[in-house]
Amino acid sequence: MGLMHNRTLIINKTIIKWREVIFDFTRIVGSFSLWNTITVTALRGLSSESDVVKRREEREERREDAARMMGSGGFESSFADFLRQCGGYAVLDGGLATELERHGANLNDPLWSAKCLLTSPHLIRRVHLDYLDAGANVIITASYQATIQGFEAKGLSKQESETLLRRSVEIAVEARDIYSERCAKSTTDVMRNGGKSVRPILVAASVGSYGAYLADGSEYSGNYGPKISKETLKDFHRRRVQVLANAGADLIAFETIPNLLEAQAYAELLEEESIKIPAWFAFNSKDGINVVSGDSIQACAAVAESSRHVVAVGINCTPPRFIHGLITSIQRVTDKPILVYPNSGETYNAELKRWVKSTGAANEADFVSHVGEWCEAGATLVGGCCRTTPNTIRAISTALYNKSINVKIPQLQ
Ligand SMILES: [Zn+2]
Repeated sequence: MGLMHNRTLIINKTIIKWREVIFDFTRIVGSFSLWNTITVTALRGLSSESDVVKRREEREERREDAARMMGSGGFESSFADFLRQCGGYAVLDGGLATELERHGANLNDPLWSAKCLLTSPHLIRRVHLDYLDAGANVIITASYQATIQGFEAKGLSKQESETLLRRSVEIAVEARDIYSERCAKSTTDVMRNGGKSVRPILVAASVGSYGAYLADGSEYSGNYGPKISKETLKDFHRRRVQVLANAGADLIAFETIPNLLEAQAYAELLEEESIKIPAWFAFNSKDGINVVSGDSIQACAAVAESSRHVVAVGINCTPPRFIHGLITSIQRVTDKPILVYPNSGETYNAELKRWVKSTGAANEADFVSHVGEWCEAGATLVGGCCRTTPNTIRAISTALYNKSINVKIPQLQ
């Protein structure tokens, strides 16, 4: 895991530079109204035959690495190995959109952070690197709101949309390669890992819910209406999951799952399509008892428990104050590793389309002070969601590192 591809690194860098010249050009020249035309042209310009062949070869190598990673022991034992290599506790990354905006990206678009795949991939890679510098063991791709249907609505073809999905994974893999190369030259990481030169790092391909595609706030209500069936959801997600699973990611992060129906759809899809990489399920809650739709968290976690593809289950984008109780509930129905990556405690107002302070919201220090308590309750992967920053993740990393040298490593199998 966290395998490097030294041979392809140089080729990668050349391709990255070339792409960025084009993408930077579109960013500078392209006003919002010209955005589609220019970026579509830029994407077509990338498809010279030799480039396509190179990228195919690179993807092939990554697929082989991922297959090796999973080994003969199955998804769950490989993931247990990963956690052990992390010292028993793994650090997830933090908010992506928050950081992209801090670096100057304008995300006022239904595609949200996925818009940057078109306009400023270098910013996405920079944010991934910031989180790796902060100690993350898992970086989550910018594909949360990247859907083939969403890109097609922007005038891209199916093929171009799929290229962008793959690009989200490639950007994260590039960040990991750059970071690993940097670490190999420095001794800082050696100290952090008690003698290991490079700590394990996984790339998780983010899949947002159907509600995230609708961009109408229904990922925070879980209410899709009576017309949406499990089959509708499976068909909606099918191609995206296939493309992401074959793009070189180590696992798929199904995030902000708002209801039981979508969890069932994901579990069936993973099985039906024989997806070759594992997945995690992360639900969101606004009361600390149920997921946002009102479905029981235990019923939702039980779907994850019953899937051989799912290696971890937990909670994301939920205020820190609800996390402890939710971990306890999830533990009653599963032995799988539990992950938590709460938001900052602020609330998203779907009408205003912005985050607003809620009473009793935790500040950064409060957030991190809960990490020990979440781990005592049973969480083994901890990170942050919306409105958390590399500083949050650095503090979590320090807290977990201290924990992993003080506490017995949990039995994961
Ligand atoms: Zn979030």
